[in-house]
Amino acid sequence: MTAWRNWGRSVLAHPTSIETPRDETEVVALLSRAAGDRRRVRPVGAGHSFTPIAATDGVMVRLDALSGVRRVDGHEVTLGAGTRLRDLPALLRPYGLALENMGDIDTQTVAGAISTGTHGTGTAFAGIAAQVTGLRLVLAGGGVVDCSGTVRPELFQAARIGLGAFGVLTEVTIRCVPAFLLAADEHPMPLAPVLEHFDQITAGADHVEFYWFPHTDTALVKSNTRLGLESGRRPLPRWRSTLDDEAMSNGLFAATCGLGWLVPQVVPTINRVAAHLVSTRTFTDDSYSVFTSPRRVRFREMEYAIDRDAIPEAIREIRTLIQRKGWRISFPLEIRVAAADDVWLSTAYGRPSAYVAVHRYHRDPFAEYFLAVQEVLLAFGGRPHWGKLHSLGHEQLRARYPRFGDALAVRDTVDPDRRFANPYLDRVLGP
Ligand SMILES: Cc1cc2nc3c(=O)[nH]c(=O)nc-3n(C[C@H](O)[C@H](O)[C@H](O)COP(=O)(O)OP(=O)(O)OC[C@H]3O[C@@H](n4cnc5c(N)ncnc54)[C@H](O)[C@@H]3O)c2cc1C
Repeated sequence: MTAWRNWGRSVLAHPTSIETPRDETEVVALLSRAAGDRRRVRPVGAGHSFTPIAATDGVMVRLDALSGVRRVDGHEVTLGAGTRLRDLPALLRPYGLALENMGDIDTQTVAGAISTGTHGTGTAFAGIAAQVTGLRLVLAGGGVVDCSGTVRPELFQAARIGLGAFGVLTEVTIRCVPAFLLAADEHPMPLAPVLEHFDQITAGADHVEFYWFPHTDTALVKSNTRLGLESGRRPLPRWRSTLDDEAMSNGLFAATCGLGWLVPQVVPTINRVAAHLVSTRTFTDDSYSVFTSPRRVRFREMEYAIDRDAIPEAIREIRTLIQRKGWRISFPLEIRVAAADDVWLSTAYGRPSAYVAVHRYHRDPFAEYFLAVQEVLLAFGGRPHWGKLHSLGHEQLRARYPRFGDALAVRDTVDPDRRFANPYLDRVLGP
């Protein structure tokens, strides 16, 4: 028995063992053994999900050794499932390629990122799983299968955002794009016009998001525009990125979150000062270094996808809720957008979506705040991120995903004995 914790420190598990197979053959052997011993198995990535989605008291499998580029065919790149997103820039550089879109960190594994529906922002851009064109999995009994839009398409549709419930991914093929730059424009704006003109603002650049600091009228709007490499990088000076990303976003932020935890009454003042300190920045850099930044202050997060049109009303309601309840919330809300996609268990399945994420410092209580915000977002057609905290069960989720039943039917076929089950999957997919 060994102890395992996730990044957000919201989950503690005691797997019987943590296995690190060196190649696919060892994954097959491991699953055949587990089937013989009737042991439960959970693949795990970088442990960056906030939910107990990867937790198990059975065998935990880390795919760190299955990393790197396997094949490149035009823009389609086949990667070992355990490849970390942070390794992709160097791995893809020789081919002049990059991921089309990314979330705000790069610590995750490729398999972990797609399995929970990791996304970034952009009205015309879907999450990473929507760029996946092929998967290779080891199934519960030890059989190895390839699937794609044309080969075992039902398994492909279910396992693209598969929550680790369909098999152990050993390879993931992703449609990449030619490497590109992002011109970043970050500036504070009053919240009211951001909400009033949300559609125009998010349509105004390729990748737009905004942060709203509770207890203030200020939003930080980040707009990134895609440019060809020939446009030339104009990165932030090193002192500035260190000051912004390390000193302000991590060092000072850690200190103010700690202070807010000890003395909650000071949070509104801290947020007003922080909103005031947010400064305008423009720079142009490689896509991956603009999309992602280091996150060293530990937190818990809940994120819901809702109908994009509902954002202004939803944020106004959450604002009223925070005021009415008297909570002191140090973390900004993060609002992003995504194109509709066709991945069965995607939060953006079949509809242009917007994401509302709420966070709390890892020492602060989160349940009351998250549950109340969840109620607001459910009323706007909310679908929870599979890797972030929420309290829904499979009956509620079925009503929110048109292809939920189809995904469960595939699960019954490939894992009838529930080799990959854990309590979280029992809750969200059913026993
Ligand atoms: C600081 C921080 C920032 C984040 N930012 C974003 C963001 O911008 N956008 C966003 O959408 N999400 C974001 N997330 C959430 C994160 O991207 C997801 O939770 C993601 O799943 C984590 O990847 P991981 O490699 O850590 O996987 P884990 O959390 O370890 O596992 C996630 C799931 O993947 C499955 N899995 C892992 N490997 C395999 C495999 N080989 N085969 C089959 N299944 C497998 C696991 O069983 C589990 O179900 C963030 C999380 C943190 C902590």
